[in-house]
Amino acid sequence: MSGLDPEDWEAFRAAAHRLLDTCIDRIAASSDHPWQPVPDTVRDGYAVRAEGTTEADIAARLATEALPYGTGNTHSRFFGWVHGTGLATGLLSEMVAATVNANCGGRDHGAVYIERAVIEWCRQVFDFPPTASGVLVAGTSQATVLALAAARLRVLGPQVRKTGQGAAQLRVYAAAGVHNAIAKAVELLGLGTDSLHLIESGPDGLDPEALSRAIAADRAAGAVPMAIVGTAGSVDLGRFDRLEALADIAAAESVWLHVDGAFGAWTRLADPPWRALSDGIGRADSLACDFHKWMYVPYDCGLCLIRDEAAHRAAFAARPAYLEAQEDGLGGGDPWFCDYGIDLSRGNRALKVWTALETYGAARLGAAISANCLQAAEMGRLVEASPPMALAAPVVSNLCVFTADATLAPDAQSTLNGRIATALQLSGAAVFSTTKVGGVTCLRAAITNHRTTDEDIAAAIGAVREAS
Ligand SMILES: *Cc1c(COP(=O)(O)O)cnc(C)c1O
Repeated sequence: MSGLDPEDWEAFRAAAHRLLDTCIDRIAASSDHPWQPVPDTVRDGYAVRAEGTTEADIAARLATEALPYGTGNTHSRFFGWVHGTGLATGLLSEMVAATVNANCGGRDHGAVYIERAVIEWCRQVFDFPPTASGVLVAGTSQATVLALAAARLRVLGPQVRKTGQGAAQLRVYAAAGVHNAIAKAVELLGLGTDSLHLIESGPDGLDPEALSRAIAADRAAGAVPMAIVGTAGSVDLGRFDRLEALADIAAAESVWLHVDGAFGAWTRLADPPWRALSDGIGRADSLACDFHKWMYVPYDCGLCLIRDEAAHRAAFAARPAYLEAQEDGLGGGDPWFCDYGIDLSRGNRALKVWTALETYGAARLGAAISANCLQAAEMGRLVEASPPMALAAPVVSNLCVFTADATLAPDAQSTLNGRIATALQLSGAAVFSTTKVGGVTCLRAAITNHRTTDEDIAAAIGAVREAS
């Protein structure tokens, strides 16, 4: 055997069709397949031998060795962390993306125009001006790095790319409890986490008055406020900062406003009252959010949207001679996405988003998002109706955080809740993750799951009750 294409395309076709059928069966029956641990024998079988085989053989191995051992986030009672479910349309778009194998760093081809169309749709959803620019990235973590790099350039000027930031005492403001993606971003940009000024926050998010005081104190001490980070949907409790108030302060202080809307930004598509949670998002200088969480699109895909295209481009544009754009031909297609982020070679993330948007439409996606909020509220109601269970925090959006037995001492509650989370994961009954509220480890459901039904909510709470 030589070469890397199938020797027998008909045998390949037959094997691929069988695998496609297996995948469709699997997605259609997602709710029969909770997470399961990977057996040792299967894990050992992953050892790379690199001896070569046929495509038909590897198709059969994918079906038995890879397909059954996911995170289980395709299951209807998966509420752990903030994991999206994935969509059946992902099968279609990923098949075509793999076939086309486009490099979306630039040039003149279909995927680039599709990515622009997706970003343009997002721009309108988030009410950013027509001058905004965007790029699809691996996720909100990467989008945050890009956005804060643009914010830093705004403060220090374009020469920061040559000289580095030197001794500038930059400051980034965010609510206590902000996602650690923000800390990682300031570390990666060389600011260090000492530059992250955490502000008290309550059920309404970051306290705007405390923010104003912090900015004034930092300025008085010679520091340079670089960015305010507002959160639309906190990862722990699903809280929202009051973005209008933050935008007012950002405008008054001439400080960049970045919004971490990883999942919560998509409340823009939801019904009242949830839509109002993200009011003011269109006033941000930058937004980071994910399609792979609450837009249910398969991993991975996030969005970095920046109000000022020039600031975005100034932070990243850099093309050596061999990448110079042409007027026409394949080397045309300016602007190139490689000038708006850190990746030169880029996969075709836009296709799965475009496919989902065109298939389901904004209204159906929004209805699924609203339904998840209703389900979190219903879970909260069931918890409150089932003492000794108790909510650890009010349900604001799609997160419900509670303890299985509020009558126990804090340490005993933590032990019990941790034990229940593990037991339900292992039994396949439901996946909760945990978080700490007031020092107590609590059960946490983050519902970004279009397969969840009200029966699933009742069954999950029933399983907690039984395991208590
Ligand atoms: C998930 C999440 C992030 C990080 O996003 P990734 O897509 O995992 O990189 C940041 N902020 C919040 C609020 C999140 O929920």
